[in-house]
Amino acid sequence: MLNIIIFGPPGCGKGTQSAKITEKYNLVHISTGDIIRKEIKSHSEFGILLKAIVEKGELVPYELIIKILESALAKNKNANGFIFDGFPRTIDQATDLDKILKKDNKSISLVLSLKVEDDVVIERLLKRAQIEGRKDDTEDVIKNRLKIYKDETYPLIALYKDQGKYFEVEGSNTIDEIFKSASDIIDSNY
Ligand code: ADP
Repeated sequence: MLNIIIFGPPGCGKGTQSAKITEKYNLVHISTGDIIRKEIKSHSEFGILLKAIVEKGELVPYELIIKILESALAKNKNANGFIFDGFPRTIDQATDLDKILKKDNKSISLVLSLKVEDDVVIERLLKRAQIEGRKDDTEDVIKNRLKIYKDETYPLIALYKDQGKYFEVEGSNTIDEIFKSASDIIDSNY
C-alpha cells in the first residue's frame, strides 16, 4: 500500500501535486484543509468553531484534527493508498498518524517535500486570495501561517529524515516538472 505525505509550506503547491499523484497512483487524497473548509461552508456548529481558528491562521486543536483524520480514513477503508496533504503538521500529529495506520497494519511509505522560498510562497498566496478569496490568504495571516509552519511543522523534516522516508522536490519549477520529479521518487522508492 502506497501512503504518501505531501509536505511543504502553505502555497508550495501541495494541492496541485496531490491531485496529479492521486490520479496516477489511484490513491485517496486526504486534505485536512479541504475537509475543514467544507465543514466551515456547511455552517455547522463545528464549522463555526473551525472558522474562527482558520481565519487567524492558527492550527486546529489536536483532538479535533485527529477526529477529522480518523473519520476521513474510516470513510475510505478500501483505499489503495493515501496521500496526506496538510497532515501531519506537528510531531504529535505524526506520532498519532503512525499509531492509527499501524492499527490497520499500514505505514507511511514516503514523504514528498516541496521546497519553495518564503517570498515566492507569499506572492502565490496573495494571488490566490484574489482568485479564490480564501479568508486566510491576507498578508498578516499568511505570515502567521508561515511562522507556525516553521515553529511546529518544520521539525517533522528531521523525524522523517531519520526514518529514511524524506525526499525533496524543487517546488519553484513548473507543475509538470515537479510532477515528473515526484513520480520518479515514488517509482524508485516504492
Ligand atoms: P495551507 O495553505 O496553509 O497549507 P491548508 O489548506 O492545509 O493550508 O490548511 C488551512 C488551515 O486549516 C490551516 O491554516 C489550519 O488552520 C487548518 N489545518 C489544516 N490542517 C491542519 C492540521 N493538520 N492541524 C491543525 N490545523 C490544520
